[in-house]
Amino acid sequence: MNKGAGLHHVTAVSGMPKENVAFYTQVLGLRMVKQTVNYDDPGTWHLYYGDGPANPGSILTFFPWTHVGPRRAGSGETGETWFQAPLASHAFWVERLTQAGVAFTQGERFGVPVMVFRDPHQMDLSIAFMGDEAASTPVWTSPVAQDMAISGFAGVTLHVARPDKTARWLTEAFGWHFVQEQDGRSRFSAGGNGLGQWIDLVASPLPMAQLGAGSVHHIAFRAGSDDAQAGMAEQLRALGIQTTEQKDRNYFRSVYCREPSGIIVEIATDQPGFDVDEPLAEIGKSLKLPPWLEPHRADIVAALPPLV
Ligand code: ZN
Repeated sequence: MNKGAGLHHVTAVSGMPKENVAFYTQVLGLRMVKQTVNYDDPGTWHLYYGDGPANPGSILTFFPWTHVGPRRAGSGETGETWFQAPLASHAFWVERLTQAGVAFTQGERFGVPVMVFRDPHQMDLSIAFMGDEAASTPVWTSPVAQDMAISGFAGVTLHVARPDKTARWLTEAFGWHFVQEQDGRSRFSAGGNGLGQWIDLVASPLPMAQLGAGSVHHIAFRAGSDDAQAGMAEQLRALGIQTTEQKDRNYFRSVYCREPSGIIVEIATDQPGFDVDEPLAEIGKSLKLPPWLEPHRADIVAALPPLV
């Protein structure tokens, strides 16, 4: 079992890419760690943000679908994506989001202070203030000082039709465990102490969500190796859940399934990582294409909307 591995990445849908880039790099201070295209739809950007070294558990990626309508909230979708930042950075983030004109609410969940807000395309976000762990050593210059910076994900909230079924899937196939329940929210932990260790399940009586701008397209769990990934896929099939064959995503290798309420969930390997096609100091600065798309670079570039 893959104990403590947690989340690898979260992939969401945005509107115009330049608003997305400005918000995540300038307001939240994340590093752009890869500029590429959607391998299944090369006319669309696939933009990746993360911490300095692009560690699994910090990677938030977007498909900017410029003509997409707004999402419709419902069941079978990932709701909030939560970042984590040091407890001592709370006042800093209140000031920073206020200055940036980002509306937010504040609260506490299971004793952890949180700020809840949305990105420019209505994606649900929060920052959980916990511990004193600073972000990884930067290999770039962020507009946010390292001791205040977002270090990666704390977790995600899943809105599901049948939390009991999702709980079984999460615990039996992935080795997560139940922690506590409060206000209709059940918290599960991957059991480690790295990034992306929490998932909250919330029962949703609503019809299936409709994908649009601000939706999370899928979430991905980490696999420490191809063997660990194969083991999780086997567990899933033992539970009667179909899995895809392994796909090469250039920076990781992926197997996909659906959570019992329909949420797309990927299992992504840590290998080979984001410095496979450019040095760590340079990642995210220019468009990288996989070998099979490189011959079409000129046409692809001509079709992509600007990032700045
Ligand atoms: Zn993915």
